[in-house]
Amino acid sequence: MAETEFEDFNFIKPLQKAIAREQYITPTPIQAAAIPRILQGRDILGVAQTGTGKTAAFALPILHNLAKDRRPTKAKSCRVLVLSPTRELAMQIAERFSAYGRDLNQRQMTVYGGVSEKPQIKAMRSGVHVLVATPGRLLDLMNQGHIELSAIDVFVLDEADRMLDMGFLPDIKKIIQKLPEKRQSLFFSATMPDKIVDLSNGLLYKPVRIDVTPPDSGTTIIDTIKHRVLFVEHSKRQLLLAHLLNQQAGGSVLVFNRTKHGADRLAKVLKKQGFSADSIHGDRTQNARTRILKEFKTRKIGILVATDVAARGIDVDGISHVINFDLPNEPDNYIHRIGRTGRAGAKGIALSFCTEETLPLLRAIEKEIEQKIEADENHPWHVPGLADKKVTSKARSGSRGPAPPNQGFRGRRRPGGSAGAPQKKRSRRRSS
Ligand code: AMP
Repeated sequence: MAETEFEDFNFIKPLQKAIAREQYITPTPIQAAAIPRILQGRDILGVAQTGTGKTAAFALPILHNLAKDRRPTKAKSCRVLVLSPTRELAMQIAERFSAYGRDLNQRQMTVYGGVSEKPQIKAMRSGVHVLVATPGRLLDLMNQGHIELSAIDVFVLDEADRMLDMGFLPDIKKIIQKLPEKRQSLFFSATMPDKIVDLSNGLLYKPVRIDVTPPDSGTTIIDTIKHRVLFVEHSKRQLLLAHLLNQQAGGSVLVFNRTKHGADRLAKVLKKQGFSADSIHGDRTQNARTRILKEFKTRKIGILVATDVAARGIDVDGISHVINFDLPNEPDNYIHRIGRTGRAGAKGIALSFCTEETLPLLRAIEKEIEQKIEADENHPWHVPGLADKKVTSKARSGSRGPAPPNQGFRGRRRPGGSAGAPQKKRSRRRSS
């Protein structure tokens, strides 16, 4: 069968120009499958992870349909609503809509928490074409009467499973109740647990199901990324990190740290060593996070140290390396983390430090991804024999939930305050 080309979609000229500007050559599988159906007005149930090109898969046909059916915006209203679990992801989706719709003269707004409501309320007064929102702030503004959803043509729910993880399900249900019955709904989720299936059943009308997760492997990301584990002593991780950073030239590096304080301290040490680094996590103000992300995108900052929650949805082209300074406590976060590199077919490298203490976490990750992560022994601090060491029952208990001892990186044990506590799945709500 002939491969689908962008020309096959017959997009209006300004969108064809945008695709050329972005240098997209061929549609990704989700784009090839979803775009024609969305153009026809069908509902979509998309099982796809971030990194598959799903934002363009919905943004391009939505913008095409909007431009074909031009209408003035209504006060406090929007024609397209995109719900996203995190502020960063909302901003990135909005940025994609702006980039693709540059020549279309569509009004657009992004609403999310953590910043003043006033500019958001003001922008909504005369209504917008596309509204990208996180659930909490959207509901706040709806409840205050500043936004209303009865004129919506298209509703997009992105990363539904993460919404669930973050405790947003009740908010989403309240939002869905306010949508008009006649609408197009597009629903995306990386996984389909029962609660998500239930939610989609209540939302979608005769949806086209598009699944771009290859059977069995459960992931597309793992195959495009070279990922390795480096065995090292806990106290030598900083030296190893500096060694690796000195070796690689030019690319952007995302370093994961389990805790907010750890991320701050690591960024500080890197700066002292002469690297251009900064940290991003839930305790930083929204303005600081926006500025840092921008600086990382424009390569002003080469190294970004992030916690899991803050890194959700970071979509920066050209991340050459993801380094797990700490292994994630939750095995499925491993895939979310390394998915920040190697996007849309580009090759990336993910390196994970593993110490004796975090060996149980490595085993849990390998079980989750159903493959053994190859070791890279070619570094000065390699710990021989660690790879084959048996995990003791005491250590194994650390792999469930709480972390191995949180020693910061000076080997100090942090008192059990919330900042040093491991980030648990259910407590993520609005802390990103
Ligand atoms: P997403 O899955 O939406 O987060 O997209 C991941 C990355 O792929 C983004 O940086 C997009 O700009 C890029 N992308 C989307 N569609 C294509 C395409 N057809 N060809 C190349 N890159 C693409």
